Amino acid sequence: MAERTKIEWVDHTFNPWIGCTRVSDACDNCYAAAMSRRRGWAEFEPGAPRHRTSATYWRQPLVWNRKAEARRTRAKVFGPSLADPFDAEISDAWRHDYIDLIKRTPWLDYILLTKRPQVAVKFFCGRRVPDNLWLGVTAETQKMLALRAPTILDIKAKVHVLSAEPLLEQLDLAPWLPGPERNNRQSFTWVIAGGESGPKARASKPQWFRILRDQCAAAGIAFFFKQWGEHAPDDERRSDDNAVRKLGRKTAGACLDGRHHRDTPL
Ligand code: SF4
Repeated sequence: MAERTKIEWVDHTFNPWIGCTRVSDACDNCYAAAMSRRRGWAEFEPGAPRHRTSATYWRQPLVWNRKAEARRTRAKVFGPSLADPFDAEISDAWRHDYIDLIKRTPWLDYILLTKRPQVAVKFFCGRRVPDNLWLGVTAETQKMLALRAPTILDIKAKVHVLSAEPLLEQLDLAPWLPGPERNNRQSFTWVIAGGESGPKARASKPQWFRILRDQCAAAGIAFFFKQWGEHAPDDERRSDDNAVRKLGRKTAGACLDGRHHRDTPL
């Protein structure tokens, strides 16, 4: 909720509302739900109403937009980070308000990640996705990738993002990357991958990240390795090493086979 974010691949985070419910294994250690419990909020309890953030808070992107325009440098905004933008419990009226804000701040590129692309498809039916709205899904397993990727890629958008975080098994992205077999259908343009952080973090295998990195490189699309999470190899420069141990998020860092991967699509 601060003006500057700790999320490595964006400049700001923005939460138009707060609250959600678990939808798949990626949610098991949901940071937002844990934070909400610590603060005594109820927005993540089943059936609890979501909390819309204040009008004052909603004016922050207007300030970021003015600053970006003055610098003539686009800025990236991730949000919501404490909710799912296409949570079915949220009214479309709230979503329209957010889309209006996105349209009114053209110097900002917004990244909206969902685990409910079926709601996004309905919402955008007959409506154009603004150019500064980058649409994406999270997929932690192949099953979730197969379920979510085709749905989000059916929506026309300037950038399609795949967030493979927390990565819980090996993924094969081939059907959803650019290639002749895509027959002009849309494909992902940015892949962000990472391991899980937090006290109950599940470990990801280095080979899973290498496969994503190599598939993206072969398809010519941007790959961003966000973090190892709590678990990493002792020596991440050894590309034959597939063992990890708990080092802690800060020590583990985000270096994969001796280099950082921080590519962005535009
Ligand atoms: S979809 Fe996101 S915000 Fe919602 S419970 Fe899952 S991890 Fe948390």
